[in-house]
Amino acid sequence: MTLTQEKIEQIRNELEGLSEEEQQKKFQEIITTLSPEEREQLVGRQQCPFCLMVKGEIPVKKVYEDDTLLGILDIRPANKGHVLLFPKEHHRVMSTVPDQVIGELFKVANKLSTAIFETVGAQGTNIFVANGPAAGQTAPHMLVNIIPRFAKDNVSIGWNAQTIEDNELETLSENIRKKTPREKPKIALEKKEEKIVQQKGKMDRLP
Ligand SMILES: [Zn+2]
Repeated sequence: MTLTQEKIEQIRNELEGLSEEEQQKKFQEIITTLSPEEREQLVGRQQCPFCLMVKGEIPVKKVYEDDTLLGILDIRPANKGHVLLFPKEHHRVMSTVPDQVIGELFKVANKLSTAIFETVGAQGTNIFVANGPAAGQTAPHMLVNIIPRFAKDNVSIGWNAQTIEDNELETLSENIRKKTPREKPKIALEKKEEKIVQQKGKMDRLP
């Protein structure tokens, strides 16, 4: 469970008008009623620099803003034009971000990538999320990196490819598939595929 905007608003109202000491006391009381995840969401946003940027308490160089997302220039860029795009709501990792926001994030990341291409004359971009400390996540707030790339820059995002047996690939693919809920009903996908086949047939008949 994550806290809804209404619930956060309600907590804010409960604290409003109280003295600082009473606020602390009330806040501690509220905290005990929340799940660990909700607690992280609420306590995290109190100190998170990205949440403070959203509130305007830390100055940023904005490149994008709407009701749910904020895009800023990284002040320690991998290359000039490196953008950080994140949800305004505090989420430490990607798994708690609502589906709709994830959709918006990547839609806007794609548009920013195009804008960065044109602005700094990039030859490519890397769009990635460091999800968890083992993946190199250092920010306490989930964010998408959009990094402009040039043929001979010194940015390194790479790995040494491992070897893997076919039967292990097979087991892995089956297990991951089972744990991943299907996004679209099978019937819609089949119709789409049918349409593509039909279009291909049309194209084949063209002179
Ligand atoms: Zn945050």
